[in-house]
Amino acid sequence: MTEKRLKVVIVGGGIGGLFAANALITRGIQVSVYEQAPELGEVGAGVFLTPNSIRQLQRVNLGPAVEKVGARVGFGSQYMRHNGVPIAPVQVTDSVGWNAAFGMHRADLVEILAAALPRDIVHTGHRCTGYEQSADVACASFANGAVAEGDVVIAADGIHSELRHEVTPPSHPVFSGSVAYRGVIPHDRIPGWPNESWLMWLGKGKHFLTFPLRAGQLINYVGFVPADEEMRESWSAPGDPDLLRREFSGWDPRIGLLLDQVSATFRWALYDREPLPTWSRGRLTLLGDAAHPMLPHLGQGANQSIEDGMALATILARANRKTVATALLAYEGLRRERVGSIQRGARENGLRYDSANPDLGVRDAQIAAHAAFRRRLYDHDVVPEAEAAALALG
Ligand code: FAD
Repeated sequence: MTEKRLKVVIVGGGIGGLFAANALITRGIQVSVYEQAPELGEVGAGVFLTPNSIRQLQRVNLGPAVEKVGARVGFGSQYMRHNGVPIAPVQVTDSVGWNAAFGMHRADLVEILAAALPRDIVHTGHRCTGYEQSADVACASFANGAVAEGDVVIAADGIHSELRHEVTPPSHPVFSGSVAYRGVIPHDRIPGWPNESWLMWLGKGKHFLTFPLRAGQLINYVGFVPADEEMRESWSAPGDPDLLRREFSGWDPRIGLLLDQVSATFRWALYDREPLPTWSRGRLTLLGDAAHPMLPHLGQGANQSIEDGMALATILARANRKTVATALLAYEGLRRERVGSIQRGARENGLRYDSANPDLGVRDAQIAAHAAFRRRLYDHDVVPEAEAAALALG
């Protein structure tokens, strides 16, 4: 008799949840996704996808879609001092020189992830409010009265995860002291702007980043600045473009030119969490920001959620209804150390970017030397190690 296919319930239809759904389906697992918002969607800002997650998107056959709606980033990418003096080129490839990093509009990424899924597996308007499990079944319940049963529940419900407390004691997110202003500008407003380059300017307590989206038709910008008390308390809110311009006045005149084009902007208070001691309990596990919210200073939050999804799918593909709890422990065993080091690395890199070291010569040397860390980060392929972990399950 053939064993029944595993059934997985995913709570949260963000980048992490939707990629996990694609990866699980590619491995022959049955999936349903429950998202609280009335429609899938994302904020008007970019996300930088690096080779470690691009190769996973290719594995679920989304490589061509990323090429089509993303912007390939490479040539001319560099770090600069606040006034535009070059510091070092930026490593955006893996060590075989495969130039695969892409700027993506977040809404475009969500759209291609959702469009690749079979119809009727994503249920919007479902806010998860509870979780129960028995020896045989995992069950998520929702504010609208619905319940979803499966062999496994994956909580991919972001930094404020409703289900995190089911697997680990409650803890507070940690505020970094900074906020990020984000937005996009049509490239034709600044036609000479490099449309293949990731560019970062570093100053005292602040840094500024741009990279292209949508085949270079849009420029994504992020300005990182210290927060005041009001900013700390609102997680995200409309920002004041004039305040943003003032924050970067006196920097490289190219930043001034770009910010002159900003008529509306949004700001995010930047929080992370200490690495969690555990991600799973029985048939429930955490994925993406629910498990490991991190500061954006290595650009890895979404990339790591994609690695999580592929690791989980690879391991669950070898599990059955009786072994899923062991499989979930294997998944977290595989992932916790890597993402913990990236969470810590993002904090350290933020200090570097904000020139915490007053000796700019030392800071610049650290920035140049950081290429080796990025290469290791980007070279990583989560699949072979997940396959080995799955085989060890027997
Ligand atoms: P989320 O995107 O938060 O998705 C969670 C989903 O769950 C949401 O759709 C939410 O509505 C839903 N949800 C929440 N609660 C419930 C519930 N109770 N029931 C049902 N659904 C629920 N990462 C990168 O890799 N590269 C970058 O360049 C990058 N830049 C960044 C810049 C900034 C300024 C910031 C703040 C972050 C950046 N990140 C970047 C990080 C990245 O945005 C996140 O790590 C990533 O989006 C996490 O995806 P997720 O699916 O885990 O969580």
